[in-house]
Amino acid sequence: MAKKSSQVTLISIPNNLIDVIYTACRTCYSADGAVEVYNNITSDREKKLSLIKKVIKSGHYSTIEHIQVTFAINNISRAATHQLVRHRHMSFSQKSQRYVKEKGEFDYIIPPAIEDKPELLEKFNKHMEEVSKLYCEFLNSGIKAEDARAILPNATTSSMVVSLNLRELIHLANLRLCTRAQLEIRQIVKKMCDLIIEKEPWLSEHLVSKCIRLGYCDEDNSCGKVKPKNG
Ligand SMILES: Cc1cc2nc3c(=O)[nH]c(=O)nc-3n(C[C@H](O)[C@H](O)[C@H](O)COP(=O)(O)OP(=O)(O)OC[C@H]3O[C@@H](n4cnc5c(N)ncnc54)[C@H](O)[C@@H]3O)c2cc1C
Repeated sequence: MAKKSSQVTLISIPNNLIDVIYTACRTCYSADGAVEVYNNITSDREKKLSLIKKVIKSGHYSTIEHIQVTFAINNISRAATHQLVRHRHMSFSQKSQRYVKEKGEFDYIIPPAIEDKPELLEKFNKHMEEVSKLYCEFLNSGIKAEDARAILPNATTSSMVVSLNLRELIHLANLRLCTRAQLEIRQIVKKMCDLIIEKEPWLSEHLVSKCIRLGYCDEDNSCGKVKPKNG
């Protein structure tokens, strides 16, 4: 049983991402068929990016749905995975608490707000130890992992493979990079976005909190970074 911090790895992204989006964009506005558009594609990267940016700005989002990316995520709490799986255009394969016995114990995430308070941190860790003992007792008594997990906390770590298209990634960033989102999911989504931006720097202007995209904050409890909607 140990305290863990999240790990995110990009395991798949198309290496011809710009060509795929450009072909989708040009096909919509060209007398040629999609095959000819792709076969005769320009090698001028800036020309391709210029059209792509214009099309995204106009909200013609089907063109970026063709780009699928996949991440491996380790040491994410069950609380955060529960938030992530609410996004309906993402695909998930998550470590099973039914089939995996957590090696008799379990690893967990400590929220920084608790870590910062030594007296509460001690109580937090003690509680985790007690839960761990009870979890092991249940397993040793023949209770299946699928039932013993009923006592595992939201802080228990999980691991998952996550796939989503570029449109959904931008939406995810818009919602989950906002300071109204919980710190853990915010940090994980930030790592996902940073890995994509490392490969495709031009996407940095899209992989942002919704306030940056909108130019104003639509939250009731604004962090104050950007002016409120009616401010
Ligand atoms: C700060 C924050 C606090 C939250 N608090 C709570 C909470 O207290 N309780 C709670 O239950 N949830 C909460 N959520 C989750 C939230 O309600 C959404 O379920 C989650 O953010 C997924 O967002 P989404 O539906 O926009 O995105 P996705 O599921 O990723 O879908 C993307 C977009 O596709 C479209 N779409 C998808 N499915 C449908 C559909 N069935 N019908 C019409 N359009 C669809 C919508 O335009 C949607 O925005 C919170 C989320 C955030 C960011």
